[in-house]
Amino acid sequence: MLDLHTEVKFVKGVGPRVAEWLAQKNIFTVEDLLYYLPFRYEDRVNPRGIAELRPGEMATVIAEVRNAGVFRTRRMPIFEMVAGQGRASLKCIWFHGEYLHDRFRPGQMVALYGKVEEGWKGRGLQITQPQFEILDSGEEGVPGVEDSGEIESLEVGRIVPIYESAANGKLTSRWFRRVVHGALSNLATTIPDGVPAALCRRLNLIDRRLAFQRVHFPETGEIFADLANSCTPAHRRLIFEELFFLQVGMELKRRRMRARAGVAFELNDKVREAIKKILPFHPTAAQKRVLKEIAEDMQRPSPMRRLLQGDVGSGKTIVALQAAVIAIENGYQVALMAPTEILATQHYLSARRVLEPAGYRVALLTGSLDEESKRNTRRHVAQGGAQLVIATHALIQEKVDFHKLGLVIVDEQHRFGVMQRFTLMRKAEAEAEPDTLVMTATPIPRTLALTLYGDLDTSMLDELPPGRTPITTRKVSDDRAPEVWEFVRKQVQAGRQAYVVYPVIEGAPAEQTEFGDGLGLAATSKTSKTGLKAAMHMHDELRKKILPDLRVGLLHGRLDPEEKDRTMRQFQQGEIDVLVSTTVIEVGVDVPNATVMVVEHAERFGLAQLHQLRGRIGRGAAKSYCVLMTGGKISPDGDRRLKEMVRTQDGFEIAELDLEQRGPAEFFVTKQAGLPDLRVANLVRDR
Ligand code: ADP
Ligand code: MG
Repeated sequence: MLDLHTEVKFVKGVGPRVAEWLAQKNIFTVEDLLYYLPFRYEDRVNPRGIAELRPGEMATVIAEVRNAGVFRTRRMPIFEMVAGQGRASLKCIWFHGEYLHDRFRPGQMVALYGKVEEGWKGRGLQITQPQFEILDSGEEGVPGVEDSGEIESLEVGRIVPIYESAANGKLTSRWFRRVVHGALSNLATTIPDGVPAALCRRLNLIDRRLAFQRVHFPETGEIFADLANSCTPAHRRLIFEELFFLQVGMELKRRRMRARAGVAFELNDKVREAIKKILPFHPTAAQKRVLKEIAEDMQRPSPMRRLLQGDVGSGKTIVALQAAVIAIENGYQVALMAPTEILATQHYLSARRVLEPAGYRVALLTGSLDEESKRNTRRHVAQGGAQLVIATHALIQEKVDFHKLGLVIVDEQHRFGVMQRFTLMRKAEAEAEPDTLVMTATPIPRTLALTLYGDLDTSMLDELPPGRTPITTRKVSDDRAPEVWEFVRKQVQAGRQAYVVYPVIEGAPAEQTEFGDGLGLAATSKTSKTGLKAAMHMHDELRKKILPDLRVGLLHGRLDPEEKDRTMRQFQQGEIDVLVSTTVIEVGVDVPNATVMVVEHAERFGLAQLHQLRGRIGRGAAKSYCVLMTGGKISPDGDRRLKEMVRTQDGFEIAELDLEQRGPAEFFVTKQAGLPDLRVANLVRDR
């Protein structure tokens, strides 16, 4: 009898040697084996007759091998196998398929799965590179598992699970099928179940053991589409369980946090007066509500852990500064972290504008400061002179001592990893733990927010400040560039400013590191020398030839910090009309007078990135325009992204689409963002 914790080597057909192979797939116990779910199912209850197949469909066919062999074309060897049913036949071909030369023998029964195509020159039907399984007993040498009539029935006349093979193909799908089947038949009749019975009843969840049984060996009557979508009762049960424990874990973490000692800030009339006094404008209702939520947290004796979500331009900064004032008025220091130097500097300038008139002392600490000023600033911070310290990673990476740190604000949290969030929190170890407010403009779809930030409370700025006009977005091909530049000129003549963004600085890809595969980054590095317009070159073109009458500036990640700073300031103060840039300006930059965002090679950018870029405009009262220019070949995905951008401005909708297209892992910068490893659940599919 097996139970879930039995080592997998004791399962019939496994043994010590195979157990080592399974270990590479993280399968150590019977339970792990049972969580090795089929990635697909084949309906072999009613396999298709070859005569009824139609080109274009995905089909499972069970047929007899007629003949097979390798033939060579000028380009490559091709393996061809003809399978038949009565007089009907189906050709299967494998490019470079020499390795198959001794796999098939005439008379064998095979199951084939693949896309049916019209044969060459319209001759019959064929499947290219089908997945196949030889069904005759004794074939494929399944170690340790003897054949019997019962096992035969695992292969045909039922819905058959298909597993990813393991150990370089030595453990085939068929092998897993038999071994899992054996494990299930020898498994204890009752297995432990951590999901409370009452909950199972309320949610109609099937028994756990039954779920394992059916997820591997579905009943004949199971709805095939549900199997394909992993939403049978068996799948649901296992998926629920996994997500349930994830949430329980998050909740425990939250409770532990609440039990820790934090600072209970006081919110008396004097403090209330102070936070009102700094306001340069009337806050929106959403800003008031969110500040109230933050202030309530801050008054509690346990450390605040709050996530503030608000779309680009929703006005998070001022809320953060008000929270800072609460802490400062209580005699504490505040750290405000920004992901880029440009953003840190911008926050520094606006914080000084807002806070210095009220007598608060603001300091800036970035990696690019010279050693001497860094030292001085650190001393200023350590002695408690600086009340609000705005910093880039410098604050996390180098040791900074605070006199009395009470609140940590992390802007654009998605740009930092979760790890860094925690390093920073550990700063004030000896004393009470500081409150933490993390802010993000990347709206996080709810499912992800729950898993990534389930330990945080969340606030939502769901209202834009008044007086914003919707942004007009257009997608145009770059052969219409002259019109676009003429439009930019008109806007500048009307007193406005413009951004022009490129995917690359020069030959090499720009610092757009946000996404990996699927969005053409790989292609970028290959074609950038020839195919892509680059910021440096276009800066020259625009400045000298296209818009010589305008003041054109250049900003990219490889400039030295002082130059970046100067350029950004000039743009902010209206001394530059057109800022040519890379995605360094993607997050946080706030220049309300800029009304035009031109993105060249827009098809190269991801949805989230385009949304962020577009978020740089539409920040003032004047009407704003986003021009998505495309150049060269556009993939269907790229085209779809641009159409979505034209269609909607809703950050949450765009985030959902982005998540759908890229999947959870790519959605965030890297793995370090803390996505859990899930065995059954899929955060996109199962949301
Ligand atoms: P984000 O949420 O993207 O960080 P910011 O805090 O940079 O947005 O705010 C965007 C712009 O809106 C800034 O120029 C800011 O001064 C302005 N703003 C914020 N709140 C208000 C408000 N209540 N009324 C008018 N303007 C506001
Ligand atoms: Mg911001």
